[in-house]
Amino acid sequence: MTNSDKLTLNSGVNKDVNVQCPRCVGSTAHKTLANATMSGGDGQMDWHTDYQILQCNGCKSISFRSESSNSEDFDHYIDTYGNDELVYRITEKLYPPRIYGYSGLGEDRWLLPDSLRRIYDETSSALTTDQPVLTGIGVRAILETLCKDKAADGGNLFKQIDDLVSKGILTPARASVLHQIRTLGNLSAHEVAPHTPAQLSLAMTVVDHLLEEVYILPAKTQRLFSGLKPTANPRP
Ligand SMILES: [Zn+2]
Repeated sequence: MTNSDKLTLNSGVNKDVNVQCPRCVGSTAHKTLANATMSGGDGQMDWHTDYQILQCNGCKSISFRSESSNSEDFDHYIDTYGNDELVYRITEKLYPPRIYGYSGLGEDRWLLPDSLRRIYDETSSALTTDQPVLTGIGVRAILETLCKDKAADGGNLFKQIDDLVSKGILTPARASVLHQIRTLGNLSAHEVAPHTPAQLSLAMTVVDHLLEEVYILPAKTQRLFSGLKPTANPRP
């Protein structure tokens, strides 16, 4: 920042911006509660960054977004009349970090055992901050922690997952999917090979469903239905 840089406050209040919500599934409309725009240049290059406090119109979560552009970073666009137009590329950053199409377990994480929640949080953070090798290793660590928590028998993760089927904790179909995810984590750990964001998002979605099935839904059911006793002659 130099003395010639310009600060403008709250020029975009109440404007709607579509971004991935930290809690809702998918991209939602967010209202701009406040914003600060910094702009400047050195005679050869101009730049501007807008820092925004946003609120999701759906769940009312508050989060932060910045969008930056500069006069050196643009695409050419040909309009319907054949005119060449310049469109500046916008670099977007979101805090807390998140990725489009993945919302995670949210507050339900608190229904996980401590050891699982710790590795789950670290892996989610690695996923949303673009650390693909660590995400792959984390996915495998989540599976290993779950197997340990459920006292799965077997000398390796493959056998332990199958043992959870024998114990009635996993369905065979779920185990089959987990074997593929397990392989993904193997490659990350031993080959230091990154996977694509789409592969890792899907792997974490599978992990989320697994944790919901094994921990979260049973805990919620226990809380909400623990006072209800099955009737002797249930109505059809
Ligand atoms: Zn929301």
